[in-house]
Amino acid sequence: MTRQSLKHYKLLVLCVCTAFLIFSGQVVIAQSNYNFNNRGGKQKAELIVGGDFVVTMNEAQPVIQDGAIAVADGKIVAVDTKAKIMASYRANTTLPGEGMVLMPGLVNGHSHSAMVLFRGLADDLALQDWLQNYIFPAEAKFVDKNFVRVGEQLACWEMIRGGTTTFVDMYFEPDVAAEVVNKCGLRAVIAPSSIDFPSPGFKGWDDAFAFAVDFVKRWKGKNSRIIPALAAHAPYTVSPEHLTQAITAARQYDVPLTIHVAETQTEVKDVQQRYNATPVQHLENLGFLEPRVFAAHMVWPNESEIALLAKRGVGVIHNPDSNLKLASGFAPVPAMLKAGVKVGLGTDGAASNNTLDMWKAIRLAALIHKGTSLDPTTVPAKTALRMATLGSAEALNLADKIGAIKVGLRADVIQLQLTEPHLTPLYNVISHLVYAADASDVDTVIVDGQILMRERKMLTLDPDQIRIEANSIAENIKASSRPLN
Ligand SMILES: [Zn+2]
Repeated sequence: MTRQSLKHYKLLVLCVCTAFLIFSGQVVIAQSNYNFNNRGGKQKAELIVGGDFVVTMNEAQPVIQDGAIAVADGKIVAVDTKAKIMASYRANTTLPGEGMVLMPGLVNGHSHSAMVLFRGLADDLALQDWLQNYIFPAEAKFVDKNFVRVGEQLACWEMIRGGTTTFVDMYFEPDVAAEVVNKCGLRAVIAPSSIDFPSPGFKGWDDAFAFAVDFVKRWKGKNSRIIPALAAHAPYTVSPEHLTQAITAARQYDVPLTIHVAETQTEVKDVQQRYNATPVQHLENLGFLEPRVFAAHMVWPNESEIALLAKRGVGVIHNPDSNLKLASGFAPVPAMLKAGVKVGLGTDGAASNNTLDMWKAIRLAALIHKGTSLDPTTVPAKTALRMATLGSAEALNLADKIGAIKVGLRADVIQLQLTEPHLTPLYNVISHLVYAADASDVDTVIVDGQILMRERKMLTLDPDQIRIEANSIAENIKASSRPLN
């Protein structure tokens, strides 16, 4: 090559490269349509977040090696390789995620958050004994606004620490819970629980449910991260008239409705005796089943009930830790998934788990159904991880906002360190996330584009203060409780 032709060749390469950059810039502009800024040909984003692996839960591009996302207005505006994102976007904050995996935040589909303050209060008891003789009396005595404020903060701290970005809270004092969620930056479906007998602050169903409806009216559309909802405790603790009232109000105010269903064999027998129908059939007879409903547990549906759940589009939240601890049984998760039921994962309250750690729920969901079916191919790792992210989002009807890493979804994502001994070496990132990772591996948590935890440091909550207040409430409970266990 002569000196002259080398010069021409270099010029040609320069032109081709420039054309490519302009072209790729145009592709990204077309994809995101966001704030194009000519400086350096890069668009402005608030945040760039990367990882050695981006596990998207999006079938179109499942795992991207050396990937990243760009975030603007709390939304994911681009998903690609890190090189392409860095070439197309500039941001005030970049979290490159070296040695990390970037994935959607976990979605805890069933919890009673403030019950963390009853963690370890009464263990190794049957559900009815545990509820009637320990939990309900303790709630009647101790649950008030301050209890929920502190308990909710403790729960949010634990959930952020473990990479949960959205949770369902079925408990009391929902305004207090909503304020805590608002301040700490998480996303939550808040569903005050209504039941047919006295509960903290209420004489029975009528005043509890009227308050819940008022809560829904007060919070609906107020904060995009807080989704107010209704909750009826269970078919054996809420009369048919009240269940009908609950679904009617949920339709009227266009909010989700959650309920515990078919948790134990005792419940199935009880409902059968009273209403001559199994729990799911009983709800069907009342016209209760529809996509806005999501049911926790569903340990004992029969085959025709599983088909009915799929047909009606009802979401189901599997809580393997709680079902094992209370010896409720093994939910037929493989059969429900096969039938097309929307199945998500939850922890249940920390009094029956005893943590809000979704990683444990993921691992149990992947393991126990192998054991009960004697088939190691049942609920493979990818399915278990999907249940904890997109599966829960689908069950809650939130899959158009959360549950995956995809352009247009909210930026609810987490980064996990992959450098710990229990994650070394690495052959398959999804295998590690399901069978080896735990809550302490979560490094950074982002919800709606806001960083809530960075390098394991909490940015929106004060852990020391929460610990002091939680221990002080526990001292009161200890001082005035009869000896338990
Ligand atoms: Zn529950």
